Amino acid sequence: MAIETVNPATGEVVKTFTPHTPEEVQQKIAAAEKAFQSWRGVSFEERARHMHRQADILEAEAEKYGRIISLEMGKPVKDAMAEVKKCALACRYYAEHAADFMADEEIDSKASRSLISFEPLGVVLAVMPWNFPFWQVYRFLAPALMAGNVGLLKHASNVPQCALAIEEIVQKAGFPDNVFQTLLIGSKEVNAVIEHPHVKAVTLTGSETAGSKVAEKAGQEIKKTVLELGGSDAFIVLDDADLDKATEVASKSRMINVGQSCIAAKRFIVVESVADAFLQKFKTKMQSLKTGDPLKEEIDYGPLARADLAEELEKQVQESIRQGAEVVLDGGREGKGSAYFRPMILKNVKPGMPAYEEEMFGPVAAVMVVKDEEEAIKVANDSRFGLGGAVWTQDKERGLRVARKVETGAMFVNALVASSPEIPFGGIKKSGYGRELSYLGIREFVNQKSIWID
Ligand code: NDP
Repeated sequence: MAIETVNPATGEVVKTFTPHTPEEVQQKIAAAEKAFQSWRGVSFEERARHMHRQADILEAEAEKYGRIISLEMGKPVKDAMAEVKKCALACRYYAEHAADFMADEEIDSKASRSLISFEPLGVVLAVMPWNFPFWQVYRFLAPALMAGNVGLLKHASNVPQCALAIEEIVQKAGFPDNVFQTLLIGSKEVNAVIEHPHVKAVTLTGSETAGSKVAEKAGQEIKKTVLELGGSDAFIVLDDADLDKATEVASKSRMINVGQSCIAAKRFIVVESVADAFLQKFKTKMQSLKTGDPLKEEIDYGPLARADLAEELEKQVQESIRQGAEVVLDGGREGKGSAYFRPMILKNVKPGMPAYEEEMFGPVAAVMVVKDEEEAIKVANDSRFGLGGAVWTQDKERGLRVARKVETGAMFVNALVASSPEIPFGGIKKSGYGRELSYLGIREFVNQKSIWID
């Protein structure tokens, strides 16, 4: 894939970038290692000062960076600005808490003293996607730099201006040179970076295929990986759910980023006694959303990030319909070559259909009607993914009980599944492994060293 900005709203190629040569990549890795040797010795106070400065820049210039996001991947500019501001929260969170998260942990043993010392690993490679082109990066960047690591970013090929903007923000915040660099490279060049002895670990957010390739290479090299891959989150609606609230959040959750979110609700598992009422309210909400130019304030959703993603989604929908799924809300691709895709609701979604088995990375809701709570949990767990999920019931104890039984990395009771700096984020099964955010996230790329003093 060429490294270029293509405005998904118009299809226009806005700017094309010359990739870094293998020699340039080698130089950047060497510069990163050099930066690490001094950055690892910098105090938490000083790292935090830069991190707060970075948060100030993100907040003050949210509109400027938000517009770059909208231009490259089509998100409405108001959502893009909110994304940039959310990155500031992650920066401040780790600026304030990293010293505690990395503090020695005393261990009770037979030694006169034994402890765990948390020490940075060095250069960490981040392979990142286009759907939240700032937030996905800052989820890595903030804890990594606060831990004393340095970062190399290989961003998705369709968001190079976002990648360069983040590098620029880090520089403007006053971090030492080369603690965070962008590599303008295609996915084929990633293996050579993983192989490099200075590169100590890799984190990837993206598809299963990309995750498995990167983990395979890192496995050969015995290097740690964190994988944050796809999801097909269940949204379970039980018979005692508050349907007004549930349908409002259902539509929000399916339509986040026009459905291009790993933690968007994708499978709506509804108990039969409330299924008709749920579907009617859900359809009304989904129908009321407005589309248009992402740079306009008043729209609810823009195009998908690339025309090929809309085409792929259309194929999944058509195949599901061919196998018997019923269309409750009709929508779909606006035309051949368009990246715009109108919301759809499918019901009678059954095992074997793409809408049941695969991740639908766009505004298509798959509804499955079940008998009761027990069947709802069974269907929720009948997925190779395990990222997030939600359950709706007015009985919080019941909600907790169901939450414990669903096989995912996170469950939300009566709430929108969302990431926030203090809550660990990550999946099980094909959704990946490892955790980002919270104190768990900063400890993924550190040497948890045991020290015994006799
Ligand atoms: P990819 O997984 O292909 O892209 C994500 C990142 O991985 C990009 O930086 C990409 O680089 C890189 N990459 C891809 N293949 C390799 C490889 N073999 N080795 C190293 N790096 C690689 O996502 P797509 O853009 O193709 O989207 C396809 C689907 O992936 C979506 O429909 C969705 O299901 C899922 N996805 C999930 C995301 C999530 O948040 N979990 C985010 C994005 C996508 P390059 O752009 O240069 O190919």
